[in-house]
Amino acid sequence: MIKITLPDGSVKEYPEGTTALEVGKSISEGLARKVLAAEVNGQVWDATRPLPAAATLKLLTWNDTEGKSTFWHSSAHLMAEAVESLFPGVKFWVGPPLDNGFYYDMDLGDRKLNEEDLALLEKKMNELAKQNNSYTRKEISKNDAVAYFTEKGDEYKLDLLGNLKDGEITLYTQGGFTDLCRGPHIPATGVIKAIKLTNIAGAYWKGNEKNKMLTRVYGITFPSQKELDEYLLMLEEAKKRDHRKLGKELGIFTMDDDVGPGLVLWMPNGTIIIEELENLAKETELAAGYKRVVTPHIAKESMYLTSGHLPYYKESMFPPMELDGVKYYLKAMNCPHHHKIFAAEPRSYKDMPLRLAEYGTCYRYEQSGELFGLMRVRCLHMNDAHIYCTREQFANEFRAVNDMYLKYFKIFGIDKYVMRLSLHDPAKLGQKYINEPELWLETEAMVRQVLIESKIPFVEVPDEAAFYGPKIDVQIWSIIGREFTLATNQVDFAQGRRFKLEFTGKDNAPETPLIIHRAPLGTHERFIGFLLEHYAGKFPLWLAPVQVKVLPISDKFLPYAQSISEKLKKSDIRGEVDDRNEKIGKKIRDTELMKVPYMLVVGEKEMNEGKVAIRRQGKGDTGVKSIEEFIADATAEIEERRAE
Ligand SMILES: [Zn+2]
Ligand SMILES: [Zn+2]
Repeated sequence: MIKITLPDGSVKEYPEGTTALEVGKSISEGLARKVLAAEVNGQVWDATRPLPAAATLKLLTWNDTEGKSTFWHSSAHLMAEAVESLFPGVKFWVGPPLDNGFYYDMDLGDRKLNEEDLALLEKKMNELAKQNNSYTRKEISKNDAVAYFTEKGDEYKLDLLGNLKDGEITLYTQGGFTDLCRGPHIPATGVIKAIKLTNIAGAYWKGNEKNKMLTRVYGITFPSQKELDEYLLMLEEAKKRDHRKLGKELGIFTMDDDVGPGLVLWMPNGTIIIEELENLAKETELAAGYKRVVTPHIAKESMYLTSGHLPYYKESMFPPMELDGVKYYLKAMNCPHHHKIFAAEPRSYKDMPLRLAEYGTCYRYEQSGELFGLMRVRCLHMNDAHIYCTREQFANEFRAVNDMYLKYFKIFGIDKYVMRLSLHDPAKLGQKYINEPELWLETEAMVRQVLIESKIPFVEVPDEAAFYGPKIDVQIWSIIGREFTLATNQVDFAQGRRFKLEFTGKDNAPETPLIIHRAPLGTHERFIGFLLEHYAGKFPLWLAPVQVKVLPISDKFLPYAQSISEKLKKSDIRGEVDDRNEKIGKKIRDTELMKVPYMLVVGEKEMNEGKVAIRRQGKGDTGVKSIEEFIADATAEIEERRAE
């Protein structure tokens, strides 16, 4: 008998040779149908492989990341089978899973694939999937494997075999197709119910441009047609929501060749959003005890030598300019400037924590190939702050920063987020990480504790911390499921020392403060790019560049419309009158396109009664009210920063 420990801690006994799939069946047939792979003693295995004598076992389904990637990798094999049956003689390189789907690189000789070929391949894959062929694993000696692929004439697989040793070589076969692969794979092809081949591209063998160009076919598969349909709809929606497209249509931002690549020009509408975000930040930070500062965009070389940005970060900075024989750099980060403000006056423990905030402008050199809309730019405005605190204050300060992130997520309707806590590797202390073993453990433990207590979902990533302390990256997902890395929250116990920052402790001895770097709203560039896609350009009232459009039914009502616009202005509501000589239907359509939250339609009846007919963006008529009533409602909506 073998002993299997399940995730709930229970231990069950099974006869020798039992597979994970059979364990699944012993629990329920329904579960067994969903099993794609298994985690056996921490390793992902085929669900059809006999289990070892003692194992902890987790059955993996579509809901598990590893389940999905096994599904997609197995789909790559299925695609290869279809390719081989349609284009005999094809040779295969590798076919890994991706975050969404899979690809396979192949050598098709002189044949170029086109869209029609993809359709044929999809059809063939569907046929093969329906045969529900098992993926069978076979251990094979190196000699036999070499003989097999020599016979097949596949020099790419022979190249892979060159790096493998006897005892670690396996072949997998499904239907009529056999591949050299370490696995694991799903039990059989039948669970692949929906298939879409998405793209054909060229890819140099081993990524080296001196090598032959192979054909890379991308695809994605799902366990149901419904999920594929939803995925395709999401892609469609993502295209419509592209922040570069919306940014242009809504007059948010532009770029100009003469200004330079990656340098964003914020248009009046974008600037309104920027100001609203800054108001939110200022309000929130003031309430949380921050102090605002303003610092220059440049600094002398000597400061960046102290901070260590030079020479280590030099490639990400703009080249220096020389003035009176001294080199100056555009700042890539605000921290050193803030440290100088800390150092400008003598500090005691009574001044701590000191929280310095600035929407700081930074310049970073991103390669032109890396530039992308608002997401990767060369000039950025950061919702930055540095908190200088004592060790005793650290946990509370860190908790308050986290609470601020959560407050913002709520305002912006961000329901899905994960924090990645990057930790140090003790083996690399003194090289990759500053040599402070105790401080590392202490701060990491405090950060972990805060994350657990705040019930924030988080994952721990070993060996990815910053040089100077543990780091928390915040990943968020927009409404349509697009992932963004928004901001980092970092603990720093190196910079304080580099800058010789000190405060007088309770016992009158000088101490070095701990520093928290935080930027919950990230940069204006990335955050507004995110918001454009998140809201599909339909900003909530408080953020909308134009909040209300007054639409007179004809010129006769223009003076009344203008009097309304005046009243809106007096109440700090951003309103405009559509004074064009157009039909009301067109005025409404155009305003909808500009995604203005409220339209006030005014004609004879409204004018005589001192009222407005209200239309809400995307919702149509919502009734008639007096202008005072409308202003009171809208003001409340704005002040509460309501989502709608
Ligand atoms: Zn494989
Ligand atoms: Zn910083």
